[in-house]
Amino acid sequence: MNPIYYDADADLGVLEGMTIGVVGYGNQGRSQALNLRDSGLELIVGNIADESFDQARTDGFETMSIVEACKRAQLVMLLVPDEVMPDVYARDVAPYLKPGDVIDFASGYNVAFGLIKPTKEVDVIMIGPRMIGPGVRDTFVSGEGFPSFVGVHQDASGQAKARMLALAKALGSTRAGCIEMSLHDEATLDLFTEQALAPALGNMLITAVQILVDAGYPPEAVLLELYLSGEMIYAFEKIREVGMNKQSEFHSRTSQYGSMTRGARFADVMGPISDLMKGVLQEIRSGAFAEEWSTDREKKLELLEELSKIRDALPLSQWELQTRKAFRIGDAAESED
Ligand code: NDP
Repeated sequence: MNPIYYDADADLGVLEGMTIGVVGYGNQGRSQALNLRDSGLELIVGNIADESFDQARTDGFETMSIVEACKRAQLVMLLVPDEVMPDVYARDVAPYLKPGDVIDFASGYNVAFGLIKPTKEVDVIMIGPRMIGPGVRDTFVSGEGFPSFVGVHQDASGQAKARMLALAKALGSTRAGCIEMSLHDEATLDLFTEQALAPALGNMLITAVQILVDAGYPPEAVLLELYLSGEMIYAFEKIREVGMNKQSEFHSRTSQYGSMTRGARFADVMGPISDLMKGVLQEIRSGAFAEEWSTDREKKLELLEELSKIRDALPLSQWELQTRKAFRIGDAAESED
């Protein structure tokens, strides 16, 4: 099993005297910066001149251009979106890195697929939170912390691992536990969830909705039953707490019997889905996906826009809005009728 690290494995002392430069004050950047400051570390923020820059100032951070932050910092946390990162790195970061510096990524993607090739004189580490930005902050404040995938890609100083663990501790991640792996494995697992599991589940859901609406059930009732009531969130929370099998005990015997007997029928026909998933995994691991997404970016963005329009035009979007309004769910709760 890959090693798992906790607070006791990390010593904040190894970061003493280092200025940390948080580059990108967005989803991850803001939460990570607030956590590090609360852990007593010295940090500066580098961002383009936009709302995030103003937010960092409002939050009380010394805020400057990305170039200035990279000139001053000894540990740079690169927290800009993955698709712009190679350009930002080449233009604003790499020229200002000094031997012995550390560069930290929250996702292994760009390094794993060769889109960023850091110079040999710096430590390259990853702390990849298994948590969205707001959760990184909320779980730090609550004391629970959040799990991460961590890894050392390059150890120029001989201290890369100790520095990585110290940073993970200051972020609040070793409280929950950090599992070590390569940046390639982190990126692969992340992309697989996005490209295989999520689309498979999404398509199952759309199919189930369509079957029930076509059979004459009101869309509001169907969506509430299938996912908008929040019952599913509780079920997943219970799966997290007690595991998949024990969670089923919270459901009636009728539910358990029906689910297990009919579930076997679905298990029997998973072959084609499994093959599709394996194909997706192969594209990710070989770097074919990363190459596809990096090539001809303008055309890819146009395609993304087209696909988003098709998705938004599905009747599901309208049914969701109707249901969320009728049951005052989420941001539709306040909207006008
Ligand atoms: P965001 O989309 O929140 O953007 C981060 C910051 O980068 C923002 O301040 C943004 O400015 C700025 N930015 C956008 N475009 C540029 C550009 N061209 N040049 C310089 N700065 C730019 O990023 P995330 O926080 O979501 O992601 C950061 C890293 O964290 C990524 O590596 C991601 O994979 C990783 N990660 C993200 C998770 C998440 O839940 N979001 C979870 C785990 C890891 P503006 O606000 O103006 O757009």
